[in-house]
Amino acid sequence: MAHSLPVFSEILPKNIKSSVEQAITNCKKVIEDVLSSTSEYTWQTLVEPIDEVDDTLGKLFSPISHMNSVVSSDELREAYESCLPLLSEYGTFVGQHKPLYQAYQQLADSEHYNTLNIAQKKVIDNALRDFKLSGIALADDQQKRYGEISTRLSELSSQFSNNVLDATQAFTINITNEDELSGLPESAKEAAKALAAEQNLSGWLFTLDFPSYLPVMTYCDNRELREKVYTAFATRASDQGPNAGEFDNSENMLEILNLRHELAQLLGFNNYAEKSIETKMASQTSQVIQFLEDLAAKSKSQGETELAELTEFAKTIDASATDLQAWDLAYYGEKLKQEKYSISDEELRPYFPENKIVAGLFQVVHKLFGLTITECSDIDTWHKDVKFYDVFDSNNNLRGSFYLDLYARAKKRGGAWMDDCIGRRELANGDIQLPVAYLTCNFNKPVGGKPALFTHDEVVTLFHEFGHGLHHMLTQINASGVSGINGVPWDAVELPSQFLENWCYEPEALAFMSGHYETGEPLPKEMLDKMLAAKNFQSAMQMLRQLEFSLFDFKMHLNFDASKDNTNYIQNILDEVRAEYSVTKAPSFNRFQHGFGHIFGGGYAAGYYSYKWAEVLSADAFSRFEEEGVFNQQVGHDFLTNILEKGGSQEPSELFKAFRGREPSIDALLRHSGIL
Ligand SMILES: [Zn+2]
Repeated sequence: MAHSLPVFSEILPKNIKSSVEQAITNCKKVIEDVLSSTSEYTWQTLVEPIDEVDDTLGKLFSPISHMNSVVSSDELREAYESCLPLLSEYGTFVGQHKPLYQAYQQLADSEHYNTLNIAQKKVIDNALRDFKLSGIALADDQQKRYGEISTRLSELSSQFSNNVLDATQAFTINITNEDELSGLPESAKEAAKALAAEQNLSGWLFTLDFPSYLPVMTYCDNRELREKVYTAFATRASDQGPNAGEFDNSENMLEILNLRHELAQLLGFNNYAEKSIETKMASQTSQVIQFLEDLAAKSKSQGETELAELTEFAKTIDASATDLQAWDLAYYGEKLKQEKYSISDEELRPYFPENKIVAGLFQVVHKLFGLTITECSDIDTWHKDVKFYDVFDSNNNLRGSFYLDLYARAKKRGGAWMDDCIGRRELANGDIQLPVAYLTCNFNKPVGGKPALFTHDEVVTLFHEFGHGLHHMLTQINASGVSGINGVPWDAVELPSQFLENWCYEPEALAFMSGHYETGEPLPKEMLDKMLAAKNFQSAMQMLRQLEFSLFDFKMHLNFDASKDNTNYIQNILDEVRAEYSVTKAPSFNRFQHGFGHIFGGGYAAGYYSYKWAEVLSADAFSRFEEEGVFNQQVGHDFLTNILEKGGSQEPSELFKAFRGREPSIDALLRHSGIL
């Protein structure tokens, strides 16, 4: 079948800026044409034509932005960055366009509005809300300032991310004496050896990318090496550590905070946290703080117990380990987990080869939602390891497609994510444009002739991102502004992703999605039992860590006071939050915040709490499957039609209630986490 996909192989840095410029010029022209051609605005005369050209711009820039993340080069980065001010300027142009705002207002007030469907009405309501948030009601000089701030913020967040990437790549450590690597699993050693060979070095090379960093922190007996690598990682892009001052984000962060605060106040909010929740499910900042503090209070004593247990345990391994440091926690944690459950990630890895897991994932969504997923060959992509799949529903209708890019490699941004390549929308001629997603992970690629073997965490990550992908691909909403993940409040957008993670722990699912890569034997029952018991190992400490990040982010934006000397403000807030809620102590050189890309380089500012908020929703949604059967088709169908297909067309609280039959409750999350 014919896909209308980006031709990645033809994206050349030298053409990028001019093509984006041209697309933006066209967008502006269409807006002006639309506004001058009529004074009676309808969906068809106002929303549709503008949506059409915006979609063209989106489809042009999405693959550029994606390639900059996954196959970056200096030329591509430069070309990509040259577009950011243009896009930001266009965003401001639209957001500050008074006649356009007035046209939307007129449409909202018209008789025609009442004839529109729910999704179309929501698009118009959201547009009016966003117009107000983009300062349309401001006086001219304030509007000008708004534009300056937006442009500068976009530059600063890009600089922030670049510093983190550069700092991550600037540090490597080459070990030539194998004795120094005792404890490290073979898979990590092989990967480190391959990395060294790539750079014509002997021995083993370690970097700060997760697949290299985590095994060192988790398994290396060599405490000095752990400390060295931890120090480099925890001081990236800061004034501390081995590259102190070289990629320092300190000034960027403070300028970002100042500008966000000024922006929020321009719009009539007291602070940026208030502005953040204006578009979220939460209705007041105090509601967010209370939600986080409730969870923290319920988790803290168990967290203290868990740490005490770890501390006692460490002493049994090494009598001198009386004062556990940050670089000891994962190491002794893994040993304790092995002792308690005698199971390690490395023992599990052979049971989770890539082919079993990917096929298993597809089988899970087949059983739940009736989907059939098939691979397409001969698709133009950005790298030879990337695969492409079509998703068909139970009536054999094509619903969407996705690229799957699983392995870590140089010049690829770390972490895992789903992104929008093409969104679902109804075209002017009535045809439906089907959605396409990018699913990106950073797992170990196959080494030494073995298939890629995943840790269970990586399996969970894959399911998580696939959940986002389903939200994007299964939507039945044709108004693009609220189809898929568009228009879904940030604190609800993690519902489908965290929801899907649950099947990674279900015996019924693991039975067919695991299989030893040599023997094909599924995960033995005793290993499964131990793995399930291990699932909530140190769950309160993990919960507290996430709450620490969330509270730091939210309070930092909530309590900012521009009239004070804020030189140490960010560090102080983090220290205060840690003092109150953390059970472990961070070393004084720790500059975690300098690499906290979600809130300084991405869109999670005063919104990191969304993960926990959505966890409450996803745990509670899954509990209906626990009650009625984990592969219950009726419940699967209800989740599909009430949540996944609806996108952002209705308030998430309404959609949740329609699926669950009641308001969300915090109990399922605490129970699933083993915290009572
Ligand atoms: Zn997510």
